[in-house]
Amino acid sequence: MHEHHDHNHDHSHDELKEAVERLKTSGIRITPQRHAVLEFLIHAQTHPTADDIYKALEGKFPNMSVATVYNNLRVFREIGLVKELTYGDASSRFDYNTSKHYHVICESCGKIVDFHYPSLDEVEALAETVTGFDVSHHRMEIYGTCPDCKTKH
Ligand SMILES: [Zn+2]
Ligand SMILES: [Zn+2]
Repeated sequence: MHEHHDHNHDHSHDELKEAVERLKTSGIRITPQRHAVLEFLIHAQTHPTADDIYKALEGKFPNMSVATVYNNLRVFREIGLVKELTYGDASSRFDYNTSKHYHVICESCGKIVDFHYPSLDEVEALAETVTGFDVSHHRMEIYGTCPDCKTKH
């Protein structure tokens, strides 16, 4: 796991710059709050909820509300910068959309960890052949118990 984090750390500065560029080219105004939310998402790697981000940034921006955070996330989602992950519960989690990856989800604490694996394109091709659908995407999740929860038992 540490290897993964270090890897992301090395690139996070460039990723932030790239993301800011993308906002600019999409004609989206970059407010200090918007910049902070984006920076948090890129560094977090934890798939935070809007509430998590709000709690992490409220000290820095006393006038910010959870709604502001959510609105910013919605803007990012609309231009494809972040992915909203909904798992049927009240609070969506947000994922900075760097590259295609799958998720491993802890059934005890709900933690979501990135799992890099070549995209299963052949499944999509097969589904198209078998069903005649135009396949747009697929979603695969792996479930289990995370290392932290394993040691708690
Ligand atoms: Zn867990
Ligand atoms: Zn992810």
